[in-house]
Amino acid sequence: MTIRNDQSVAPHDADADKLPGIRHIIAVASGKGGVGKSTVSVNLALALQMRGARVGLVDADILGPSIPGMLGIPAGKPPDVTGEGKAIPIERHGIATISMAMITGDDTPAVLRGPMVSKYLKMFIDATQWGELDYLLLDLPPGTGDTQLTLAQSFPLSGAVIVTTPQDVSLKIARRGLRMFERVHVPILGIIENMSGFTCAHCGEITDVFRRGGGERMSQELAVPYLGAIPLDADIVTGGDEGCPIVVAKPDSIAARAYTSVAAQLAGQLDKTPATALKPFVWQWETNEGAPEWAENASRAGGIRTRPIGLRRHDLRTLAVLWEDGHRDLFDVRDLRLNCRCALCIEEMSGRKLLDPLKVRADVRPRTVSSIGNYAIGIDWSDGHNSGLYSFDHLRSLGERIASVAAEDV
Ligand code: ADP
Repeated sequence: MTIRNDQSVAPHDADADKLPGIRHIIAVASGKGGVGKSTVSVNLALALQMRGARVGLVDADILGPSIPGMLGIPAGKPPDVTGEGKAIPIERHGIATISMAMITGDDTPAVLRGPMVSKYLKMFIDATQWGELDYLLLDLPPGTGDTQLTLAQSFPLSGAVIVTTPQDVSLKIARRGLRMFERVHVPILGIIENMSGFTCAHCGEITDVFRRGGGERMSQELAVPYLGAIPLDADIVTGGDEGCPIVVAKPDSIAARAYTSVAAQLAGQLDKTPATALKPFVWQWETNEGAPEWAENASRAGGIRTRPIGLRRHDLRTLAVLWEDGHRDLFDVRDLRLNCRCALCIEEMSGRKLLDPLKVRADVRPRTVSSIGNYAIGIDWSDGHNSGLYSFDHLRSLGERIASVAAEDV
């Protein structure tokens, strides 16, 4: 349950017009192409659905879409649009999906520059009529570049799943992807090892083609969950090529059961992760409109120190932050302004302060405070400054610094 900010009777719920009704957004990622990430996304979506969940799938690989082919959806047939201008996802095998291939067709490679890719991606997620979903899976393009960061920063992802093959080189790349998500505070829900051993179609015996167990080793090494292995199986390829994924075509096969088991592990991980990530907000400081949550009862011993579960206006000059471990901080808003770490306020290389405190007015205050992904807030200040990000790590350590200075002053 969420306790709303007692000072706010906010007529406008910031998350309500963003992603209503989606319980978990999950990114499926890999460090490089060809490891079977899209195949995993499709079969995982179907396996989650077979557990009774409502599932949507975004083909976030704007430049190399492959999901429609795997689900048997014809390319080049743009989705219908609602009266409010939202795209209606196309449903196949019970999975609602949207992809660039529906717009451009198979033969027209989308030649788009970075900002356009981000724009399409955001549209696919928040300008699509998804309805009520338990899971929205995002099949990311391979790599650890802009698209991945755009997503991590724009939407409240519940977490990311990393697909890898057993070979060392692939694992090294997957590790890089994993670090990128950690940097922007997207939890890693687990690692899936794909093409792990070859299943004989006749006797069911599994032969290791590549070295086996790399995914499991990596998850141990990096202390993230291991969700399971999918065998190398020719029927997986046929299912993908023919638009009828193996989980639907041969639900009793060893490979289909492997996907089912991974889906169960993933659902378990999500149930364990309390959904305490703050929903996106754009908060008008003066009127308190759009104020974020204050989820007092989501705090727990052992909670994450740098994960806020509530932000509120203590008074017009003070921002209160409640952290998942139950700790609270009160920040004088001018102190926050003085501690801005953007390139205009701090010299990047030397760390030397460029901001002259005497030039910051005593009555400086936020105009708006907005969430930035899962890991920071951005503040638009009354003095026109708005380039600084306050990461939750930074805020928490700032709180500690202020507390220790206050203790010395006593
Ligand atoms: P990615 O999205 O990582 O680029 P794809 O999902 O497109 O990879 O898969 C690449 C190729 O590997 C496809 O031909 C697909 O059918 C095949 N493939 C994926 N997973 C398996 C598997 N477990 N066994 C055999 N072939 C697989």
